Amino acid sequence: MIHRTSQIHRDYKDPLISTRMAKSKLSPVLIISTFALLVAIISFKFYTPAEPASKPSEHRLITIKIPEIPEPTISKQNLDKPIATVATKIQSSTVATLNTSTHTVKPGESLSKIFQLQNFSPSTLYKIMQLGKAVNVLKNIKPGQQLNFSNNDAGEFSSLKYQIDRIKTLNVSTTTTGFKASLIEKPVETATDTASVKINNSLYYDGKQAGISDKTIMELANIFGWDIDFALNIRQGDSFTLLYETKFIDGERIENGHILAAEFINRGTKYQTVRFVNNKGNAEYFSPDGKSMRKTFLRTPIDFARVSSHFNLRRKHPVLNRIRAHKGVDYAAVSGTAIKATGDGKVVFRGRKGGYGRVVILKHGQKYSTLYAHMSKYGRYRNGSTVKQGQTIGYVGKSGLATGPHLHYEFRVNGVHRNPLTVRFPAARPVARNQLANFKQQTSPLLSQLERTKQTQLALN
Ligand SMILES: [Zn+2]
Repeated sequence: MIHRTSQIHRDYKDPLISTRMAKSKLSPVLIISTFALLVAIISFKFYTPAEPASKPSEHRLITIKIPEIPEPTISKQNLDKPIATVATKIQSSTVATLNTSTHTVKPGESLSKIFQLQNFSPSTLYKIMQLGKAVNVLKNIKPGQQLNFSNNDAGEFSSLKYQIDRIKTLNVSTTTTGFKASLIEKPVETATDTASVKINNSLYYDGKQAGISDKTIMELANIFGWDIDFALNIRQGDSFTLLYETKFIDGERIENGHILAAEFINRGTKYQTVRFVNNKGNAEYFSPDGKSMRKTFLRTPIDFARVSSHFNLRRKHPVLNRIRAHKGVDYAAVSGTAIKATGDGKVVFRGRKGGYGRVVILKHGQKYSTLYAHMSKYGRYRNGSTVKQGQTIGYVGKSGLATGPHLHYEFRVNGVHRNPLTVRFPAARPVARNQLANFKQQTSPLLSQLERTKQTQLALN
């Protein structure tokens, strides 16, 4: 992909080549290479490691409750009775559990098809679907999911159990008057866990060795990513300590929740963060003194794109072939790649603008504006709409004066073009004044727990 896109941008004078390149099916390659790049970034290594020793999996005791089938009591009294009576008793006590079947949903299979296969009447399904909101999930069954049915001796529907996800289960059963549906939710318990990791190899490798999930490692990289360059600046000897949520169902760990507090030491510099949920229920990461971990602008409007042309006030224009300032940065990317608003703002222009082709201009407060050019199509935000940082405002293309698909991105401060790759961004809003007391109260226990984890780890070393 990199090879192809670099060709697009070198062969500026051959529009035929660019067209052909643009039309070739690159998307699966892009997906794979994007993923590979992601892995490469977080697993940047100091040396080639030995094959990772497989992490001993956690064995937990899971108690499975098997529904009890009452055994027919063959007492002395029963023995005295005729055999037929005993046999009837066996049958009547086991009938409910005998006629059960599990159906695994196959691609393209509808609920009515499944009911048909189970020999249940269409009116049964119709009546069940009239039970209201709870049964609506049945409209969204997916291949691979399971439906547990039971029927009575006459082959008629008796019950349906559908495990929607790890937490929710839908039960439909017959009543004396018809059917009833109930949604059963297992309680999710939340606990906290800690980890302390010294990086010998890479953030990803050493994190995994310490039993930290991919999701949590990615979250860590996202939180500190504004301050630490995880692709280039991680060194052997860097370390981090985490306090994070873990979620349990029936005593079994199902997944990690959010990072609650963290410290990262990068080349001797200490960075700390803590999660704070404000009075409106919004969660954000701050430094312990209440400054935001985020910046008001993302450095780049596209994920994992390569810079194909830098900010240069004396560049020879590839199409016009004469010196013309390049007042932005070009990112080579496949046509259709999403372009993100780099900051919260308002759409002040959306339309065609000469050589820029399809353009969106955002205004961010009084001081800043950003421009995104050569789009193949616009996002859903119209002129005058407000947009949030990270929302898709358009898609990469080659409209206007461009030979291959790329994004031309400009950043202006008080109307003056600045290099988007080097300009200093202001930090996002700190904790609101009226929330400071709440912030201290909520975050100090988390920070003390983080400190204790560090101390324990130091003692162990
Ligand atoms: Zn450009």
